[in-house]
Amino acid sequence: MKLLAIGAHPDDIEIFMYGFLSACKNKGDDIFLLVATDGSLGGENNGDLVLQRKKESEKGLNLLGKPTFLNLPDGCLGNDQSHLDKLRNQLDKIKPDLIVTHSTKDYHSDHIALSRIVKQIASHYIPIIFCDTMMGINFNPNYYVDITKYMENKINAIICHKTQKPDRFIQLAKLMNSYRSAQCNAPMGKFAEAYEYKGTFPFTDIREFLPPSPKVRSFYIKAINGFL
Ligand SMILES: [Zn+2]
Repeated sequence: MKLLAIGAHPDDIEIFMYGFLSACKNKGDDIFLLVATDGSLGGENNGDLVLQRKKESEKGLNLLGKPTFLNLPDGCLGNDQSHLDKLRNQLDKIKPDLIVTHSTKDYHSDHIALSRIVKQIASHYIPIIFCDTMMGINFNPNYYVDITKYMENKINAIICHKTQKPDRFIQLAKLMNSYRSAQCNAPMGKFAEAYEYKGTFPFTDIREFLPPSPKVRSFYIKAINGFL
């Protein structure tokens, strides 16, 4: 399967999608990575911020593949038809079987705009799975992926984004991914990422594309053993 991940900013794939992509790579999928904006508003711009952020992305994502940068303007994604055209060219070139990108329910206008543009281009030709929002606000996931064995790599990937003061995002990822795992009744110390997929014809059920969810632990059995 060809899987295309599209992040709005240079650190988004690492923060929101890294575990899922690692699990897909591990099962043999071809991973394609797109970074939509140049990230020029993320931090102090001393002249080479865009270049620095590209290097951080390349380093952060090096276990998954080489990202392609679309260099669209940070902060006003979707304000011009050329943004849609640039993304369409990439989709035509890659021809992915599945896309993972931001949700329209996310907090950042670039994330929301990207989600809408991708949905418009993909139409009913390519299924899309939407990643979690910042701190899960307004997000109601229906697919969870166990990322425990990739969590260390995910943290190391986020650390690469030195210009973004990455400690805050590492704390956030640990909190979110631990919470999402706990929602599946997984034991402490496990991590999961959460996604939303809305089945539409002809991609009504795409579970055959997806890596495993956290293991189900029966509430009843644990309850009678006094676990819960
Ligand atoms: Zn972002």
